Amino acid sequence: MRRVADRLNGSDRPTFSVEFFPPRDEADEAILWRSIRELEPLDPAYMSITYGAGGTSREGTIRNIARVATDTTLVPMAHLTAVNHSVAELRNVIGHFAAVGVHNVLALRGDPPGDPMGEWVAHPEGLHYAEELVRLTRELGDFCVGVSAFPYGHPRSPDLETDTHYLVRKLRAGADFAIAQLFFEADDFLRLRDRVAAAGCDALMLPGIMPLTTPKTLRKTIELSGATPPAWLTERLDPLSDDPKAFRAEGLNVITELCERLLREGVPELHFYTFNRSKATRELVDRLGLRSPRAEPALTTRP
Ligand code: FAD
Repeated sequence: MRRVADRLNGSDRPTFSVEFFPPRDEADEAILWRSIRELEPLDPAYMSITYGAGGTSREGTIRNIARVATDTTLVPMAHLTAVNHSVAELRNVIGHFAAVGVHNVLALRGDPPGDPMGEWVAHPEGLHYAEELVRLTRELGDFCVGVSAFPYGHPRSPDLETDTHYLVRKLRAGADFAIAQLFFEADDFLRLRDRVAAAGCDALMLPGIMPLTTPKTLRKTIELSGATPPAWLTERLDPLSDDPKAFRAEGLNVITELCERLLREGVPELHFYTFNRSKATRELVDRLGLRSPRAEPALTTRP
């Protein structure tokens, strides 16, 4: 059985993982699979596919994560949300994951479709919080379960103390680890890790990392983090907005420095958002020396 926790605990050196989103159409699916095949030889600790708001994107997650389990050497983790699902439907999806060999689930509540900050209304026969989905998943089999965490606090949390309280509750409900939402400075993540440890919880905290290759990826990082970027970051990247090559080079330098600091602080694993492209992640993995000894060696560039 391929479990994320076993991969993380069984490694005596820092590792990495990769996140994809479900393809929208056939062309998208071909791009996704090219990236999966390009990243597979680097031996990531696991790979995950996010869960969409409904319909075809959900089918895309379920179909493709099953294919990863059967057709690749990768450890697959399916994201799953409680949005618009009854408990019976969630049981079905989780049962299907087990049947196709996916034994890792990132259990999330999700956001209201359309407007992430709109009123959250649970399905009449569904769940209210991720904590309940963690319990349900654990009840249904020998799953390794992850949850989300928020370095600046979840946007709906009134303060960091309340945020930490509910994060620790959902970890104690049966989660093995948490993956942090995007952030700008290593200290933002390390403070989250310290808050959880101070609450007496020793669950593994993993940072989410976006390779900053374009102004769009910077805007997405700002949006998802829910925070204002520090002045030093905008000073380094904003002047390069009209020069794609220079932006990419400096953006990857910024992320390399961030990851180096995290690794120095003992972070055991970095979770890269790939946007279904592999190039920037492969580059960062090589810069940071994260290829596992089992991985194929980096290709040397010919003169
Ligand atoms: P919860 O842990 O349920 O928390 C939601 C809010 O409720 C928080 O403010 C929390 O403090 C509060 N709360 C929790 N429990 C209680 C309680 N018992 N009583 C009162 N308040 C409580 N979204 C997707 O749609 N698909 C994805 O694939 C996806 N992947 C993600 C991956 C990562 C790594 C991250 C960080 C986020 C991801 N999201 C995804 C976004 C996520 O679904 C949203 O951020 C959502 O708003 C919160 O989900 P959660 O699981 O953290 O919710």
